[in-house]
Amino acid sequence: MLRNAADCSQCGTAPEMRREDDRGLFMPACPKCKHHASPYPSESGAIALWNRANAPQRPCLGCGGKPRLRNSRLRGLWAFQCRGCGHSTTGSHTVMGAVTAWHRHNTPGNGHYWMLWQQRHQELQAQHQG
Ligand SMILES: [Zn+2]
Ligand SMILES: [Zn+2]
Repeated sequence: MLRNAADCSQCGTAPEMRREDDRGLFMPACPKCKHHASPYPSESGAIALWNRANAPQRPCLGCGGKPRLRNSRLRGLWAFQCRGCGHSTTGSHTVMGAVTAWHRHNTPGNGHYWMLWQQRHQELQAQHQG
């Protein structure tokens, strides 16, 4: 159990700290679902990153579903994806970038963001079919 660390946003389990001693990196990770934030060179910094990545996120603008954080190992990109309709933002190289992108992308009550959301949704559906 880590002091000052939020529970995993994906499954509600308290995270554990993983250490990479050879590179001097710290990374909180969920022991249950393996969800984790980016590694960081200090313990307190790593916990701060984890907390920001696991703070409650805005619901999906389209279906109101909750997003989950995904990491593409292939390209090293992070993105939030809606558990309801599968909508996702474009990938970012950092967890914080993904948090910001999802937050902005799902801003309620704004015609501009709603239009962008729909555009992205069509893009995703085209990718799915192709
Ligand atoms: Zn978890
Ligand atoms: Zn959705």
